[in-house]
Amino acid sequence: MRLMLLMGPPGVGKGTVSDRLADRLGLRHLSTGDLLREAIAQGTDQGRHAESCIGRGELVPDALIGTLLEEQLESGGDSPWLLDGFPRTLAQARLLEEMLLRKKARVEAVIELVAPTEVLLRRLGGRLICGSCGAGFHAIFIPPKRAGVCDRCGGALVQRADDREEAIRRRLEVYAGQMAELRPFYRERGVLRPVDASGSPEQTEAGVLKALGPG
Ligand code: AMP
Repeated sequence: MRLMLLMGPPGVGKGTVSDRLADRLGLRHLSTGDLLREAIAQGTDQGRHAESCIGRGELVPDALIGTLLEEQLESGGDSPWLLDGFPRTLAQARLLEEMLLRKKARVEAVIELVAPTEVLLRRLGGRLICGSCGAGFHAIFIPPKRAGVCDRCGGALVQRADDREEAIRRRLEVYAGQMAELRPFYRERGVLRPVDASGSPEQTEAGVLKALGPG
C-alpha cells in the first residue's frame, strides 16, 4: 500500500490541492474530518461519540479515529492514498506507523502546505456560505453577483462562526501546536516536503509535484 499525507493550516487550500492531486496522480483522497461527518450522518455508535467530541471542539479519541481509518485503508485495494487530517498528534503518527508496518508499508511523503498568516486570514476572513443551500462564496475570490445574496437560491450569505478573525487565530494556534510535534517526527524520517501555498492553486500544485520528484 502507498500512502502520502497532506498537511496545512486552515485556509491554505488543502481541499483544492487534494482534489487536483487526486485527479492528477490517481490518488484516493481520504479526509478524517469527512470520515467522521459520514459516521455522524449514518448515526452509528462511533458517529454519536464523535459528534459529542466535535461539538465540544475537541479531537475524537485516537482509538475511535484509528479504527475508522484502518477500516477504510483495508477496503482500498491497490490505489495509493492521500490522507488529510491525520495524524493530528504524535500518538496518532505512531499509530499510523504501526498500522502501516503491519502492511509492510510506510508514509512515502508528507506534503506540508505553508503560507503567511496574512494570506490565511485574507482567504478565510472573506469566506461566505449560503444559510439556505450551503453554497460557498468568497468576498474577494468568488464574489456573489449581488452582495450578501446567494447566486444559486437567493438565500442570505453568512460567515461561519469559526471563520471570524479571533476564531481563525485560535485555529491557527492549534495547528501550529500540532505541527511543532509532527514536523520533527517526519523530518527525522526524511519524508517532510514543505510547499509554498501562497500563490494560485496551479502554482501550489506545480510546487507539490516538484517536491514529490519524478515518479
Ligand atoms: P476537519 O474537517 O479536519 O477540520 O475535522 C473536523 C473535526 O473532526 C475536528 O475538529 C476533530 O474534532 C475531528 N477530527 C478530524 N480528524 C481527526 C483526527 N485525526 N483525530 C481526532 N479528531 C479528528
